[in-house]
Amino acid sequence: MMTTKTPSPTTDTVGRVVPATGAAMTLRPRRLRRTEGIRALVRETVVRPEDLIYPLFVVPPSRPRVEIGSMPGVFQLRVAEVVDAARRAFDAGIRAVLLFGLPEFKDGIGSSSWDPSGPVQSAIEAIKRHVPEMTVIADVCLCEYTDHGHCGVIVDRNGVKDVDNDQTLPLLMKQAVSFAAAGADFVAPSDMMDGRVGAIRRALDDQSMSEVGVMAYSAKFASGFYGPFREAAESSPQFGDRRTYQMDPANGREAQREIGIDVAEGADIVMVKPALAYLDVIRQARDSFPLPIAAYNVSGEYSMVKAAAERGWIDGPRVMNEILTSIKRAGADLIITYHAMEFADAYR
Ligand SMILES: [Zn+2]
Repeated sequence: MMTTKTPSPTTDTVGRVVPATGAAMTLRPRRLRRTEGIRALVRETVVRPEDLIYPLFVVPPSRPRVEIGSMPGVFQLRVAEVVDAARRAFDAGIRAVLLFGLPEFKDGIGSSSWDPSGPVQSAIEAIKRHVPEMTVIADVCLCEYTDHGHCGVIVDRNGVKDVDNDQTLPLLMKQAVSFAAAGADFVAPSDMMDGRVGAIRRALDDQSMSEVGVMAYSAKFASGFYGPFREAAESSPQFGDRRTYQMDPANGREAQREIGIDVAEGADIVMVKPALAYLDVIRQARDSFPLPIAAYNVSGEYSMVKAAAERGWIDGPRVMNEILTSIKRAGADLIITYHAMEFADAYR
């Protein structure tokens, strides 16, 4: 004669107690994905045009408007064209632009970068005159203005050329003050010299420009993803590379240290650059610091999407959305991206 065994309670793979009857309720997360309405209702991360910062490249009036070959849809623009771009961006919901300049001439110390009538200074003034509500951020660095293409002053140390940290700082201070005097809301040092955030903060305060903020490129990695930008900004180093000042891509802890130093020196916004290969660094920064975190969705990240979409290998707009969402989900409050206009146009 068979005896009926009384089943005893067990637990299933997700730790729920399966009652003795054996009829555990199946958990059904798919209920929350059933319709677009429900998906929208429970969506955790939404990118808005206001989250984006739109980079623009300004050339002197003597040069034509040119599309960057490796960055379809991105142009070198003259001041009037930059103003048009800023107005269209503002109308589409974008609230900040980041300006890079291509000067009339270059020299060893980048002296054209503090010319009050330089392309960036002129563009800042013109945007503030014609689109006054637009937040204007000016990139502060020497590499677009030096004939050697490095981000600082070159010195010779026993036959080896090196970028001198402390000789570079006063030049960055001059450039930052010049952009602030033109009306920039934020200056954004991207050179990765030690101590530059504090030096620029002091320089601004000394000039009674305490209202001008510093958005620091705090964790900027020596990255292969910058290739197309160097065509856009004409800032390729003429010798060597930037590995003695930009960070080693392998170092996450060091990135948090760099960010912490910039916070201590008075940065208002800190940045991780590039974004996609560094989402973990963005997340760690978000968890460690209360300041707004910006992430730079850099030229190579943009160009890869454009190139693959052009070949029909991916759905470009869909991948753009997914990438920007991933950067925000990782913890970025602000995303600097060449996709800004395309995203904002599609958002409306
Ligand atoms: Zn630079």
